[in-house]
Amino acid sequence: MKRIGLIGGMSWESTAVYYRLINQAVRQRRGGLESADLLLHSVNFAEIVACQTAGRWDRAADLLAASARRLEQAGADMVLICTNTMHLVADTVAAALSVPLLNIIDETAAAVRRSGCAQPLLLATRYTMEQGFYGERMARQGLEPRIPAAADRQRMHDIIFQELCHGVVREESRRAVLDIIARHRAGGADSVILGCTEICLLIDAGLLDCPLFDSTALHAEAAVAFALA
Ligand code: GLU
Repeated sequence: MKRIGLIGGMSWESTAVYYRLINQAVRQRRGGLESADLLLHSVNFAEIVACQTAGRWDRAADLLAASARRLEQAGADMVLICTNTMHLVADTVAAALSVPLLNIIDETAAAVRRSGCAQPLLLATRYTMEQGFYGERMARQGLEPRIPAAADRQRMHDIIFQELCHGVVREESRRAVLDIIARHRAGGADSVILGCTEICLLIDAGLLDCPLFDSTALHAEAAVAFALA
């Protein structure tokens, strides 16, 4: 089994989900008491958020590249950045490594394509929805992600940073997100991407009438597939 390296803590609420999903998948495939061979470097999220709000993506890239190198030096055979937003600096982090960086955008896009969907609604932080890196990378795989209107983007962003990253799950917020989804379904979106690793705490496939692509689960699954290949 290959060793999985996770850069987590962004937020740790979602890193805990990765840890559970990865170990569950290994147990499911291997049986018995098999579990993942895994290294986690959990960063101080406040430092990363300070970089985001100041637009210091260069500084954030340096922090995550250093984290990735430490994981590789400690024996990781692959590295995952356990957040969609910080894939804004994924190329810098990948360049700091000689082992693969499993990219959450590529894994999510591949799953959308496999399903035959092409116009998913992208729900994420404002950085992910607005800065282009996510949609452009998906467009390279032939997808046309749809982005909510400005007020809905702000609402989504606030739910992520003010609630989900604190471990707070509110019914009112769930209804607000389902309302955004319903409006985009009526407008032609054929599926939904949970393009933020905390949204799975709020929304699951059972609530929707269309395919749902949870980036957290897809990324965790990609790590297990690579580890067990
Ligand atoms: N975990 C979130 C994501 O997947 C947001 C936290 C962050 O800004 O990294 O984008």
